[in-house]
Amino acid sequence: MVEKNNHKEVLIDNHGRRINYLRLAVTDRCNLRCFYCMPEEGIKYVDRLDLMTYEEMLRLIRILAEMGVNKLRITGGEPFVRKGLKGFIEKIHATPGMEDIRLTTNGTVSQSLIKDFRRMGIRGVNLSLDTLDKERFFAITRRDVLPGVLESLQALQDAGIPTKVNTVVMAGRNTADIISLAELAREQVQEVRFIEEMPFNGGASRPDPENWDHLRILSHLMENYPGMTPEPVSFGDTAVRYQVPGFKGKLGIIAAYSRTFCGSCNRLRLTPTGTVKTCLYDSGVFNIRDLMRQGATDEQVGIAIRDAVGHRARNGFEAEKNQQFHGPARESMSTIGG
Ligand code: SAM
Ligand code: SF4
Repeated sequence: MVEKNNHKEVLIDNHGRRINYLRLAVTDRCNLRCFYCMPEEGIKYVDRLDLMTYEEMLRLIRILAEMGVNKLRITGGEPFVRKGLKGFIEKIHATPGMEDIRLTTNGTVSQSLIKDFRRMGIRGVNLSLDTLDKERFFAITRRDVLPGVLESLQALQDAGIPTKVNTVVMAGRNTADIISLAELAREQVQEVRFIEEMPFNGGASRPDPENWDHLRILSHLMENYPGMTPEPVSFGDTAVRYQVPGFKGKLGIIAAYSRTFCGSCNRLRLTPTGTVKTCLYDSGVFNIRDLMRQGATDEQVGIAIRDAVGHRARNGFEAEKNQQFHGPARESMSTIGG
């Protein structure tokens, strides 16, 4: 389905949802090994020649921007382990129509660049941080680098970059940290978001007998902050946000596994090897790198995207059911980007 907008055809899916947001995973590599995302060992990284090149991604970004995609998030793997990322982001910033560039990072390798983020056009950063406790940080990420992450958090504040903290809530691992992390929103950060753990760890499904779903996270927060009140949810929001009396920032809860937000999903995802995903829970709908390398014109690339968007699953449950090749547990979030 198409709609005219300033002589450009904007992307609207077969369920009437406007698509204006690209999540771009620029690498599958990472310097951490968060257990909910990647196995500790035996990871087979993608061959470099199979990665989308920066030129290919910039071409795609331009084509998408012409179709009304104006928001982009860089993610990974850890985006900053890919060389040349800074120049790439600057070029995205120079792409007409790409108005809102953000990134998600683990905060371990980007400290020295943070002072340049504003100039690079980065409007906001999601910093992943699951605990403030050194031992638990090591147990979760299998790396002893919490101080560097906290330095990045401080550097982001000093540079005036709007910062959200992303915390995956994991039964038996960091539920004791929920309140100390929430406290970061009292003075320091724009938002602390608690995310349901999803089964994308590149291995087996992880049972959660304690069922830390969005409702349980909410009731835990409300026990500590009885005055918290929800804000209206906007189209495209995955988080339900809460104001807390005395807090400058917000608390957010993302029902990533319960999938309560699919009705207003405005996203497309691109994996590092060019697989287009129209849902986090699908196994990929086509490969745009291959299409480009076969010599497709911009128009052909645009038609392929429009076709994919025209056949989207209604929600994450339908997408998961339609998977042809494998269940999500075997996928690693490091190739999807969150
Ligand atoms: N390396 C960067 C980082 O950690 O911020 C970017 C990539 S990471 C895959 C993007 C987001 O996905 C992070 O906030 C991470 O916590 C989240 N994530 C990874 N695996 C997840 C899982 N199994 N369930 C829920 N969130 C997950
Ligand atoms: Fe790396 Fe981010 Fe995955 Fe952790 S969540 S292993 S930091 S890609």
